Amino acid sequence: MSKVQTMIPLAPSHPDKDAPVMMAQVFDGRGNAIGATTLARAIELESKGKGVLTSEPSDGMVLRLNYVPTPDPAEVKQNAETVKARWRRHRVAQLRKRDGDFCFYCHAIMNREEMTLEHLLPKSLKASDSALNMVLSHKLCNEQAQEFSIAEKVRMRERNLVKILRGFNSDMERQVFLRDRSLW
Ligand SMILES: [Zn+2]
Repeated sequence: MSKVQTMIPLAPSHPDKDAPVMMAQVFDGRGNAIGATTLARAIELESKGKGVLTSEPSDGMVLRLNYVPTPDPAEVKQNAETVKARWRRHRVAQLRKRDGDFCFYCHAIMNREEMTLEHLLPKSLKASDSALNMVLSHKLCNEQAQEFSIAEKVRMRERNLVKILRGFNSDMERQVFLRDRSLW
C-alpha cells in the first residue's frame, strides 16, 4: 500500500516564460500517470526524497513518486461546497416548479434570495433530502418551525392561512385571492 500524503504543487512557483522548459512525466506511487512537471521541479522533489527521477526510452524523463498525492484539503472542501450548491440550486428549482414561489408556512411570495429548503421531517431524524420531504420557506419561518412535528408544521401553515383569509370580506375576493396565489 502506498503512502498517502498531501499534494505538493507540481508546477514551479516562478516559471521563466522565455526559457525552453524541460518536462518530466510524473507517475504516482501506484504507477498511474498523473501529469507532468518541469525537470527543475522533478529534481527538487527527488532531492527531497519524494520520488525517483529516471530517463526512460518510452517516456523521456520520468519522476516516479513514492506516494499517492491527495488533493489539497482546502480544494476538497471547495469542491464539496460546489457540489452542494449545485444540488441546492437544482432542488430549489424543482420545488418552485412543483409548489410555486410561496413560503410553505406564511404563504407569502418569496424572491429567490429569500427561499430556504425546509425538511418536513427534520434532518436530525436522519430524514431524506428527497423532494418528497422538502418544501420552500422563508429562513425565519423555517426557524420558527424547527422543533415542530410535521402535524404542528401543517397546523402552523393552516393558522397562517386562516389569518390571511380573515383579512378578506367577500367570498368573491377570497376566491380570486386563492386562485391568484395558486394555493389550491
Ligand atoms: Zn414565510
